[in-house]
Amino acid sequence: MYTTDKLPLDQKDCFGKFGLMSIPYRYFAGLFLSEAMIALRDDKKILGAKCEKCDKVYVPPRSRCEKDFSKITELVEVGPEGTVEEITVVNYEEEYFKKFCSMLDPPYTMALIKLDGASTKLLHRIPGDKIKRGDRVKPKWAADDKREAMITDIEYFEKV
Ligand SMILES: [Zn+2]
Repeated sequence: MYTTDKLPLDQKDCFGKFGLMSIPYRYFAGLFLSEAMIALRDDKKILGAKCEKCDKVYVPPRSRCEKDFSKITELVEVGPEGTVEEITVVNYEEEYFKKFCSMLDPPYTMALIKLDGASTKLLHRIPGDKIKRGDRVKPKWAADDKREAMITDIEYFEKV
């Protein structure tokens, strides 16, 4: 048995190995997020969960308030417009985004957007690299036959 003070190797002897994992999984969205995703798909509406105790509105919805741990029971419509609060520009083609969810060619902007009526920020994409904090944006919805109750039912946000 080795203990940390009696390991035969020094830290300089440690090495890393490259590996690649692919893990299929099914994510259970729960009642709130399921209802919000169905609203995206069927009604092109963005829903948040509103805490009755402190009025904080979470987007995406969650069933417990992180501030006061109250059980949240109310969904409210937010947006669809919002304000860009944080940004980073993507200048390279990312394999995962290209395969699963991006219709955008680089450069594009990953932004945290505070939708009107929301207390939290939603991460999404905006075409191009000319977005700045404070810009007003609105969703560009996927076509009716392309929406599938996922956040990518909003293809991206664009300037108002
Ligand atoms: Zn609360």
